[in-house]
Amino acid sequence: MEQAMKDFFLFLSKNKAMNAAAKKWGLRFGASRFVSGVTIAEAIAAVRKLNQQGLVCTLDHLGEFVFSLEEANESADYCIKTLEAIHQSGVDCNLSLKMTSLGLDISRELCMTNMRRILDAAKKNGNLFVRIDMEDYAHNHVTMEILNELLEEYDNVGTVIQAYLYKASDDIDSLKDKKVNFRLVKGAYKESAEVAYPNKPDVDENYKKIIKQHLLNGGYAAVATHDDNIIAYVKQLEKEYNIPRTQFEFQMLYGIRTQSQIDLAREGYKMRVYVPYGNDWYGYFMRRLAESPANVKFVLKGMFSK
Ligand code: FAD
Repeated sequence: MEQAMKDFFLFLSKNKAMNAAAKKWGLRFGASRFVSGVTIAEAIAAVRKLNQQGLVCTLDHLGEFVFSLEEANESADYCIKTLEAIHQSGVDCNLSLKMTSLGLDISRELCMTNMRRILDAAKKNGNLFVRIDMEDYAHNHVTMEILNELLEEYDNVGTVIQAYLYKASDDIDSLKDKKVNFRLVKGAYKESAEVAYPNKPDVDENYKKIIKQHLLNGGYAAVATHDDNIIAYVKQLEKEYNIPRTQFEFQMLYGIRTQSQIDLAREGYKMRVYVPYGNDWYGYFMRRLAESPANVKFVLKGMFSK
């Protein structure tokens, strides 16, 4: 997609007025293709359907721009309710979350308190795994620090390494001995060339490098991509280095490349779908539009064909 279009949707994703208004609208503009619902019950129903197709899931309660203690605690409560609903319903699913929604921008202490509450609830509800999504570079160092601290107390937590960052490979090696469960991605935010590869071919090369590095280190890799070349590369590594399928999984987003998701599961790979839900869907939806012209076409078709 034209860089200008990408930037436009990323700019829209940060618009606080639109974000606030969208919370009252319910899912609109075709967002329901990418967001499973507004309530937990809708999200669990979507997960159950995916499970029936052989796909496992991770649920994410959407939340952006959290600047008050009440909102941060409420967001943590939602995470806990989600864990309880996963356990009670018996679906095959874990949890993904963003620490800014738990008050990271208010205070690190508040965020830690909420993280401990969530991880304790995850233990209590079937020892579920909790993935800390990686946000923009401004939050990267603190996220890695917090992960390190939490790993001293919990074994059901992991985070995400973004291949576009120059530091990605060092981050993986710094936690080599802890055999961390990392989700490996290309990276979704707009970052400066001081910290991230500006050119896509370099990102793709570094992505391959860190996937191989983490797998050969013996760590668990959740390779989250829609890119066929990367998927083929992982399959090649599997054969070349005899990597057991219990050491990695593929991940894709809800509503994107759904047939490929099913095909990978049928081939016997663990395929996890990232399933977002909640009324704070606007920013997430705009970022998906920024990623793909196909998604914009889909949305425009939906808007104008009625
Ligand atoms: P690309 O090179 O962007 O795309 C390869 C091909 O995949 C495209 O040509 C297109 O055919 C298809 N494709 C890619 N995206 C789309 C789309 N949206 N719609 C339709 N087709 C598409 N990023 C973070 O920074 N932090 C995170 O915590 C994080 N978590 C993620 C979790 C999951 C499960 C996934 C799948 C992605 C996550 N990302 C995260 C986003 C990631 O960093 C990339 O921005 C995103 O996945 C697009 O890169 P790609 O690897 O799919 O490859």
